[in-house]
Amino acid sequence: MIIDCHGHYTTAPEAHTLWRVAQVQSFKAHEPFPEYPSISDDEIIETIETNQLRLLRERGADVTIFSPRASAMEHHVGDETVSLAWSRACNDLISRVSTLFPETFFGVCQLPQSPGVDVSHSIAELERCVNELGFVGLNLNPDPSGGMWNGAPLTDRSWYPIYEKMVELDVPAMIHVSGSCNANFHATGAHYMNADTTAFMQLLQGDLFSDFPELRFVIPHGGGAVPYHWGRYRGLADMLKKPQLSEHLMHNVFFDTCVYHQPGIDLLFEVIDLDNILFGSEMVGAVRGIDPETGHYFDDTKRYVDAANLTSNQREQVFSRNARRVYPRLDAALSKQGR
Ligand SMILES: [Zn+2]
Repeated sequence: MIIDCHGHYTTAPEAHTLWRVAQVQSFKAHEPFPEYPSISDDEIIETIETNQLRLLRERGADVTIFSPRASAMEHHVGDETVSLAWSRACNDLISRVSTLFPETFFGVCQLPQSPGVDVSHSIAELERCVNELGFVGLNLNPDPSGGMWNGAPLTDRSWYPIYEKMVELDVPAMIHVSGSCNANFHATGAHYMNADTTAFMQLLQGDLFSDFPELRFVIPHGGGAVPYHWGRYRGLADMLKKPQLSEHLMHNVFFDTCVYHQPGIDLLFEVIDLDNILFGSEMVGAVRGIDPETGHYFDDTKRYVDAANLTSNQREQVFSRNARRVYPRLDAALSKQGR
């Protein structure tokens, strides 16, 4: 079985996206939010079958861990009420996809985070998504300001309420920023990579997993700059008098394979323990074109994993076993389906 741990509903029906535009306009005009539009099952089926499902079949994957479009979370837009209504609408839509395609899509939620608002305000939506909608994880935005980084690091105690709930529910978080409102940082080319690297360094500086030994984070996009600079981070751990990274962080931190060329994937497998790598593609997402050097889509990451120097057992570990270990609720749901 091949599990893609990193998919977003980037092709959501237009009515959903238009509602968001209208919602933000009404917020600015101090008016009530418009009523959410009626979207038929057929519309949802069409957007999935012609995009994510078609590509899954063409590329040979079986399951996608599926969350709302990350760049559209826009926690920096509006206020807490805007973020809550938008998150609920996005999560409900993901739930409809997973209900319509129960063997393929398993939900991960967006949280109603908002700059300056205590993250404990996101707990109710996390509980709703896991307990009522059957979601298997969450996306946690380490910078709800959208590129200003004016909040507290992930190791700050103000984040602890959400970690306590994650441990209680036994769900991992993908650390995932949203759009950038800072013109210095292109969203997918700079802000995403910065956030991946920044989150890892914050965790390195702190001792979060001493307090939460069961907490699990997936750092996407291949871990940002971290695997490429692994020696720097091992050296910094040494200078900061932290344990070796294998003990300090790597029981709790995982990277995906959203690296869009073969040398990058080869480096990831060479540097990072296989236990810590989950297959992911982030398709249809940040980089949608065809690589002129290979003639294949940049985000067809299965191709790179297939070509990497791994045994079939190691490949299966990356393709499915690690995801089932990190996402126990996914494992339980698959087991229930006899898979
Ligand atoms: Zn993503």
